[in-house]
Amino acid sequence: MKKYDVVIIGGGHNGLVCAAYLARAGKRVLVLERRSRVGGAALSEEVFPGFRFSVFSYVVSLLRPEIIRELELPRHGLHILPLESTLTPLREGGKAGDYLAQWNDHDRNRRELARHSLRDAEAYDEFGLELHQMARLIKPILAVAPPDPASLHPRELLDLARLARMFARIEKKKFNTLWKLLTMSSADYLDTWFETEALKATKSASGIIGTMLGPRSPGTAYVLLHHYMGELDGVFRAWGFAKGGNGSVSAAIASAARGFGAEIRTSAPVEKVWVENARAKGVVLEGGEEVRAHTVVSGADPRRTFLGLVGEKHLPGEFVESIRRFKFRGASAKVNLALGEAPNFTCMPGPGPHLRGAVSISPSVAYLEQAYDDAKYGEISRRPYMDIVIPSMLDPAMAPPGKHVMSIFVQYAPYRLNGGWTDARREALGDAVIDTLAEYAPNIRSALLHRQVVTPADIERVVGLSEGNIFQGELSLQQMFFLRPAPAWSRYRTPVEGLWQCGSGTHPGGGVMGASGRNAALALLGERA
Ligand SMILES: Cc1cc2nc3c(=O)[nH]c(=O)nc-3n(C[C@H](O)[C@H](O)[C@H](O)COP(=O)(O)OP(=O)(O)OC[C@H]3O[C@@H](n4cnc5c(N)ncnc54)[C@H](O)[C@@H]3O)c2cc1C
Repeated sequence: MKKYDVVIIGGGHNGLVCAAYLARAGKRVLVLERRSRVGGAALSEEVFPGFRFSVFSYVVSLLRPEIIRELELPRHGLHILPLESTLTPLREGGKAGDYLAQWNDHDRNRRELARHSLRDAEAYDEFGLELHQMARLIKPILAVAPPDPASLHPRELLDLARLARMFARIEKKKFNTLWKLLTMSSADYLDTWFETEALKATKSASGIIGTMLGPRSPGTAYVLLHHYMGELDGVFRAWGFAKGGNGSVSAAIASAARGFGAEIRTSAPVEKVWVENARAKGVVLEGGEEVRAHTVVSGADPRRTFLGLVGEKHLPGEFVESIRRFKFRGASAKVNLALGEAPNFTCMPGPGPHLRGAVSISPSVAYLEQAYDDAKYGEISRRPYMDIVIPSMLDPAMAPPGKHVMSIFVQYAPYRLNGGWTDARREALGDAVIDTLAEYAPNIRSALLHRQVVTPADIERVVGLSEGNIFQGELSLQQMFFLRPAPAWSRYRTPVEGLWQCGSGTHPGGGVMGASGRNAALALLGERA
């Protein structure tokens, strides 16, 4: 039997990042992915002949720049194309009419905001500066293994002291702002800055992504900040599209990992972690094959890892309780459309740069909160929040000539739907999306060639994300930092000797970020970021 230094369960992008860093350090590494291809939720697929989609995650911003640099991802094919704008179409008196556009170009953006509110145009730069400063404060924390405040271990005490020094240097005003962002709702936070409804709604939408919370729920301001921490080429909060779709992010990381000598096996589902005398000895694949390794690292989410692959009998009761209580509550869905022609938005007709950016169906905070109200009571939002991109506008290879692919991120579609998810409910979700979109881009029905509707139940079944939660567990304050995924186990180790974790269910959480994979590898190697 071949023995590895490290076997990694799951070829999601974090598992691949972890593999690349460990192989770079000279470890003999094997990645085992249950699906026929790597990538997890960062995957491109030709769903309909000639039409390629980022089936699940679809835009990039959070991927840590140090990972791009250290793994030389552009050399392995990573090419990110920036999105130019965000268009929020509006409806007045039941009819599509005006819009709010946010452009990358500063002066154009300011003119557009001033058209809606001079006050908001004045406040915008200061708002951007505040979030920029907050993102800079948080940024170093993304790369640390969170110390346990209750631990007396010298290394953890040292790390706590380092963090305390970092926080002690923060000016009082900035600390107060950070505290507000950790505790407020995104809508309340934005109310302190702006008066234009569409601006507040579109910005606060960043705070609800991936969570079963509404824009008025406390804690969502932090999710908003999480989405501001991305940067492209050093520009904070810039979002882009990976040429070839998000699968090419995973492919580039996999290529880097292989380049350092890691082996990657697909169609290799792990049935269980092989534990003997409270120590991980390797894994057992479905079908009975045993793979021995000195260390096992799981990139699957905490519920799947501990309650599924390890088994409660190998774990302390208190830990099992924490993992059982870890909240998933998937609320997001995806609708991917193959189109015979580009959408034509009534508020900004014809082609134009707005089609090379995002389109956000978020006309007001009340609209988003009502979408949440439906979900709160177990129903699909009748009028959902949607974040739309048209990747073929930036990368024509995604669709046949003259045709387009449209990617629609949708909330809310609660995992715990009244009556459960069936084919009919999946189609009802698809219909709610098309009906809503048609109010703003009426040609969508005639342009539609095919549609793929991905519910939270599909996300769970296909990617393996429990309850379809896109972040491997909600990004709420009670399950972040030293509490992610469980108190005392936030430093990528687990209660089973020789078993580690590297997925988004660990600090700093979800998104195509790679931070968990890198942090886990560095912790395992005994290095600091
Ligand atoms: C619909 C949707 C839209 C999203 N949109 C965005 C976006 O636009 N931008 C963004 O930054 N983030 C987005 N996200 C979030 C982001 O994609 C995820 O947080 C991230 O990809 C998770 O990566 P991961 O490597 O931690 O885990 P995963 O991607 O969940 O990878 C885990 C891997 O483990 C494998 N696995 C599980 N069990 C086993 C087993 N027993 N044996 C072997 N393999 C196993 C799975 O098959 C999977 O490949 C989105 C997610 C979804 C679902």
